[in-house]
Parts: sequence; C-alpha cells; structure tokens
Amino acid sequence: MAEQKKKSIDRRSFLLNAGRAACGLALGGLAYRVISAHMDEETAGPKSRYVWAINPDKCTFCGKCETACNRTPSAVKAVNDQKKCSCCVVCYGHISNKQIPSEKIMSDGERVCPEDAVTRVNYSGGKDGYFIYDIDDNKCTGCGKCAKACNDKGTKSMFLIIRPDLCLNCNGCNIAAVCPDGAIERLYYGPEDNFRGIYELEGM
Ligand code: SF4
Ligand code: SF4
Ligand code: SF4
Repeated sequence: MAEQKKKSIDRRSFLLNAGRAACGLALGGLAYRVISAHMDEETAGPKSRYVWAINPDKCTFCGKCETACNRTPSAVKAVNDQKKCSCCVVCYGHISNKQIPSEKIMSDGERVCPEDAVTRVNYSGGKDGYFIYDIDDNKCTGCGKCAKACNDKGTKSMFLIIRPDLCLNCNGCNIAAVCPDGAIERLYYGPEDNFRGIYELEGM
C-alpha cells in the first residue's frame, strides 16, 4: 500500500514536471508540447498509446541517450524551457568560456555543443539585452552536454526528451535498458495531444 502511494506521488511529481515543461514552452512562445496530462490508464481513453519518456528529475545526462537509441539519429533531443531560462548574455549551455566579452561570444565562444546546435538570438536588440537560446533539432544528437552544463551551472532550463514523433516505440526501449538512473518511463499519450514537433519561435 505504502509502495503504491509512493509510486502515485512519484508519478504525480513527474506529471507536474512534464506539464510545467509543456506550459513553460508554450508561454515562452514555442509552438511545442512535450507530453499530455493523460498518463493515467483510466482517463487516457481507448485511442491513447504508450510513449517512452525521460523523467527530468532522474536524468543525469550520462550521454547514453545519444548512442543507445535503436533509431539513428537518436529520438532523444535537447529542449530549452524558455520560461525557466534567464536569457543571459552568456549561456552555460551555449559556450564554456563564460568570461568572454559579450561582443566576442559568437566569434570566439567555445561551443558546448559538438554539433553547434544551440542557437542564440538577440531578443531585445541591445548587445547586452535578452537572448533566446534554442536547440536546432535537425542538428541535435541527444548527447546531453548542453543540458548537463545548464543543470550543473545554470538555471536548469535545458533538458532531454524522447520525441514521440521520432521514437520507434520499441517494445523494449534500448535506452531504458542501459540508463544508469532508471530515468526512462512509459507513459500514456492521448489522441487529443496533437504533438506537432514544431520548434520555431513565434513572432521572431
Ligand atoms: S549539446 Fe548535445 S544535446 Fe545539446 S544540442 Fe548539442 S547535440 Fe543536442
Ligand atoms: S523506444 Fe526505441 S526509438 Fe524510442 S527512444 Fe527507446 S530505443 Fe529509441
Ligand atoms: S541514459 Fe538515462 S541518465 Fe543517461 S542521458 Fe539518457 S535518460 Fe539521462
């Protein structure tokens, strides 16, 4: 009974996190949804299906998501929750030499991402104003380096997701089999949760 209660609380906190991420992305101007609130079998409905998902509270960005996925390139991608992001001039998930002068960031900044998939767009106009950091999912291989740096030193706004539209929905997720933190879970994805996989910033 106690175990069942604990499981239910864990699940609720995961859902809150998933919901917060989806909400944050929406409020941040991204036409993008991470996952539905219908993780419960009884309310998910007959047309719902399972998806594999990463529990953001458990993932430690070990790097295995990039290589263990049965899909190539991996179905795992990094995203940046714009509501949590501080939109700093210098971003830990973007470059590693954070003391660099702001005008040299784009030319001399040492990129955290080996694919240079973390993009930086000036949002407010001034050279030291607000900056939007986004992930180019066409380049992202799911290595987690940006999210690790952001979680270790920044605002923890970057994290990894398994994209439902890319995932092959393998019976046994290969990442779940090797994840050292038990961070891969199977959740319900309702038909009304129209996952679009769109990452463009609106109004930019
Ligand atoms: S550092 Fe890795 S996870 Fe982050 S955007 Fe680049 S390839 Fe994707
Ligand atoms: S279910 Fe398959 S395709 Fe989806 S994340 Fe796991 S290994 Fe990759
Ligand atoms: S294998 Fe697990 S801990 Fe490693 S990056 Fe993937 S979800 Fe995170």
